[in-house]
Amino acid sequence: MGEARLRIQLRGIVQGVGFRPFVHRLAEERQLGGWVLNSSAGLVTEVEGSRATLESFVEAVRHDPPPLAWIQEMQVSEVAALGETAFVIRQSLASTGEFALISPDVATCADCVADFTGAANRRYGYAFTNCTNCGPRYTIIRDIPYDRPKTTMAAFRMCPACQAEYEDPRDRRFHAQPNACADCGPSLSAAVEEARRRLASGEVLAIKGLGGFHLACDARNQEAVERLRARKRRSDKPFAVMVRDLAAAAALCHVSEAEQEALSSTRSPIVILRRIEPVALPHAIAPGNRTLGVMLPYTPLHHLLFVDAPYDALVMTSGNLSEEPIVVDNVEARQRLSQTADWFLTHDRDIYMRTDDSVVRVFEGRERVMRRSRGYAPQTLDLGREVPELLACGGELKNAFCLTKGRHAILSQHIGDLENYETLEFFEETLRNLKKLFRVEPRAVAHDLHPQYLSTKYALERTGLPAVGVQHHHAHIASCMAEHSLSGEVIGVAFDGTGYGTDGAIWGGEFLVASYAGFTRRAHLRYVPLAGGDAAVRENWRAALGYLTDTFGADASIDGVAEERVRVVRRMIATGLNTVPTSSCGRLFDAVSAIVGLRREVTFEGQAAIELEMIAQSDEPGRYDFAIEGDGPWQVDFRPLVVEILRDPAAAPVKAAKFHNTLAEATAEVCLRIARETALRRVCLSGGTFQNMRLLGTTAAALRRNELEVYLHARVPPNDGGIALGQAAIAAAAGNINF
Ligand code: ZN
Ligand code: ZN
Ligand code: FE
Repeated sequence: MGEARLRIQLRGIVQGVGFRPFVHRLAEERQLGGWVLNSSAGLVTEVEGSRATLESFVEAVRHDPPPLAWIQEMQVSEVAALGETAFVIRQSLASTGEFALISPDVATCADCVADFTGAANRRYGYAFTNCTNCGPRYTIIRDIPYDRPKTTMAAFRMCPACQAEYEDPRDRRFHAQPNACADCGPSLSAAVEEARRRLASGEVLAIKGLGGFHLACDARNQEAVERLRARKRRSDKPFAVMVRDLAAAAALCHVSEAEQEALSSTRSPIVILRRIEPVALPHAIAPGNRTLGVMLPYTPLHHLLFVDAPYDALVMTSGNLSEEPIVVDNVEARQRLSQTADWFLTHDRDIYMRTDDSVVRVFEGRERVMRRSRGYAPQTLDLGREVPELLACGGELKNAFCLTKGRHAILSQHIGDLENYETLEFFEETLRNLKKLFRVEPRAVAHDLHPQYLSTKYALERTGLPAVGVQHHHAHIASCMAEHSLSGEVIGVAFDGTGYGTDGAIWGGEFLVASYAGFTRRAHLRYVPLAGGDAAVRENWRAALGYLTDTFGADASIDGVAEERVRVVRRMIATGLNTVPTSSCGRLFDAVSAIVGLRREVTFEGQAAIELEMIAQSDEPGRYDFAIEGDGPWQVDFRPLVVEILRDPAAAPVKAAKFHNTLAEATAEVCLRIARETALRRVCLSGGTFQNMRLLGTTAAALRRNELEVYLHARVPPNDGGIALGQAAIAAAAGNINF
């Protein structure tokens, strides 16, 4: 019988997911000798026994790893046999420069739910129950290797019962770093019963969660929801709702199988669902929407809040002031949220890294991330090749940054709108943390071309690194390419609100032929004058006046806006004062919204577009006219659309539908022309406008009808939350930086 010994090295998400006990169990079952350990590079095991048994061991590791594990790389080599017959789990090893992938936070597993809801269980009612299959990870990890002393659980000393579980390889809590119980672990500031009673009576609560505080209230209590909205003074942005279970979700919304899967995944994101009409919830939850952001309970505390509660849905919105980062600290929460919350439910387990709830939608049966944070970060994306260590600073709104290490792109969690000091601090603290966890020392920095973005200023003034400026829409397309590991040239359609153009104009309706190395602007929406900077976004009728002026001349007017305000903006357009040309697709939506009389002012960027999508008649096949003119870059001219839409006697929902159809048709037509000239067949769709599912669906269908290959985002947001990945991919390909 040939005895042999193998050394197996695993990389990927192999720590904090129960991998060592799994290996231990496999080895014991097969009576193999050896050991297993976590190193800062991943997981290493040596096993010794007969060749046939070793083979079955390797097979089992490869094909049947623990549910949360992800094996990116597995190296098996033969080493000299030592005659070992016992199998042990060894102490973790830390080595400098090496890193292991860190698991995102994981929603509470069914076994743990059974534990804290089982009256006879020693964890009955315990709000911090977790195991190797679930619980906090990224939010509590200070450094690697992932061991309890390097987490915010270091402050709690395990009781004998917890310690015994922790040390027993047969236990579900073997080496579960955040393992705890009511005797030894974190505790709540008040009883869950009191929180339930207060929620049921209509109070607004600040509740400390996994990645930060939530503001919560009974979602069916109109008065409470309105009070929360008024106190948060937060535009009309929709609130997310946490429901008791899938049945409660299905009572409010249409839930497909794929959506069910997304809701109940270990990542437990907010899933944007189509509401069942007439809606059973107060209007103030999501004004002007036909969709609702829904999530399931993902911590033991959330589950406990629903036990025997009279409500089955809670508003759960980020605990922050208007656009500041989500609050994580107890003291800070009491300062900042005291005007908003009637009562606080906190706890004493510190949050090291803040994360917001992630937001996804299902399109074509696949989950698409719109806001990438809890449950997703810091999972890395494979760049397909080794690249130098880089930092890409992202954009301004919905900022996320990106670091690279080896083949990994490490996209940060959603940071937010980099428009205030607090958000910049969050950016910097997250950057420090991810550099440390992944052992990254960037050698160059990529940034947006917009000189006023805080992310640009940070890149140029604070890093001291060689800098690569990346055009905004090029970054969008490169991010879609990188997500799909595309190389060479593609046709890129980048539609969004705002991006700094190379000609000083505001771009946002762009057709590029792009590679990582560069791009050519082949077409764009025809420039229209946009007066008033930020005010032009808030007062979307200004975009309409831009389109109307372009179509009918300088004395164009717009219904529903006071003549003297129109006169001021008309003069600005005529003289060019504080007026820039724009090809922004977001502003086209703004203009159409005002022209069809839907809305003339908005409280947040994108609101007009969302409403236009929401009211659009679903089965309307008609469209308006458009033109494609000029010779390089072509201009997509929607003046014919403006003329027709004003004459169209149809109701706003029909007009909105025809507008969507027109834009999709024009987009496909331009892509087809580019394809004919370049022989390129691959089309990447990116940019915040493609969060519009109706536009995305009709555009993708029109492109496919023309036998073009369509690439859409899934794991990376199409909005500016994804551009850092594109910046990184472009910087990695840039020949002009000296590494
Ligand atoms: Zn669990
Ligand atoms: Zn304990
Ligand atoms: Fe953008």
